[in-house]
Amino acid sequence: MPWLTPVLEHFGQALDQGRLPHASLVTGERGVGKRQLAERIAALLVCDRRAPGMRAPCGECRQCQLRAGESHPDIRLYQPEKSRMIRIDQVRSLSQFAVASPQVAGVKVAIVHRADQLNINAANALLKTLEEPASDVVLLLLQESGRPVLPTIRSRCRILPVATPPAEEATAWLATELNASEGAPDPERQALALYLAGGAPRLAMELLESGFLDQRDAALDAFRQFMKGAITVAMTARAFRDLGHEATLNLMEGWANDLARVMAGGLARDPGIAEVVRYLAQSNPPWRAQQLVDAIRDSRRALVNNVNPELETDRLLIQWRSLMPGRRRSAG
Ligand SMILES: [Zn+2]
Repeated sequence: MPWLTPVLEHFGQALDQGRLPHASLVTGERGVGKRQLAERIAALLVCDRRAPGMRAPCGECRQCQLRAGESHPDIRLYQPEKSRMIRIDQVRSLSQFAVASPQVAGVKVAIVHRADQLNINAANALLKTLEEPASDVVLLLLQESGRPVLPTIRSRCRILPVATPPAEEATAWLATELNASEGAPDPERQALALYLAGGAPRLAMELLESGFLDQRDAALDAFRQFMKGAITVAMTARAFRDLGHEATLNLMEGWANDLARVMAGGLARDPGIAEVVRYLAQSNPPWRAQQLVDAIRDSRRALVNNVNPELETDRLLIQWRSLMPGRRRSAG
């Protein structure tokens, strides 16, 4: 992932000069490779043969072998489990790990994947570790763009931003990764995945490999039928359920933005929705697109408060269909 090189270089220089921060906050879009970066840094930190100028672990020493077996006792990863949040007992375990002596390496590395998903008690517990760091522990906190991290935590970290690579670089990387295996999706499909991933290459790969794109096709197909009045809200919502609510909202937000774009004389980015939005753009004033975008944002906020996601999907679908000519009165 060549776009990680500048951040790695920045970190490596700090390491070479003995100004390594105790805690770093790696920020960037979802699926841009923050975890891979943190794992690479951790690997470099524990490597026995680390020398100035090295930006990759040797791959041969005992530490590197342990790490390759994914059982290095001095590297720990903490991430949200079923609750979608990092719980206080996970942070307590991190705090114990931070003060204990390293078992086999000269340093311990704790990676907190999704430091933006700490509940308030967990965040406060982590703050204690950040305030009094042991000298032989390095904390790598990862933050997804747009998801806040407590300012008290943020202020104790050095910020390492990972930029989303330019489209050409992302496209080239994705093609190289995918074409190495048989049955690679065609370039059009790869471009769509990259678009749906907001340009983040790792996420695009995940979408392709997890079958997400096929589920999205099914939802899109149901949506088109629904807009024509061929199937019910309930049937349509069912097609979206497999995607999950967050992905449903992302998809619909993309479509609403495409509608706004077409209304302003531009082109839809999602080719699957182009025909529908062209039709809607002819018969609706521009503020209707903004209204949809707002409704989707409201729904996203409501998600935090444990609303019923299916009811939210129904509500949004009904709002979409109210844009169809002749449907306004009955659906509005
Ligand atoms: Zn090594």
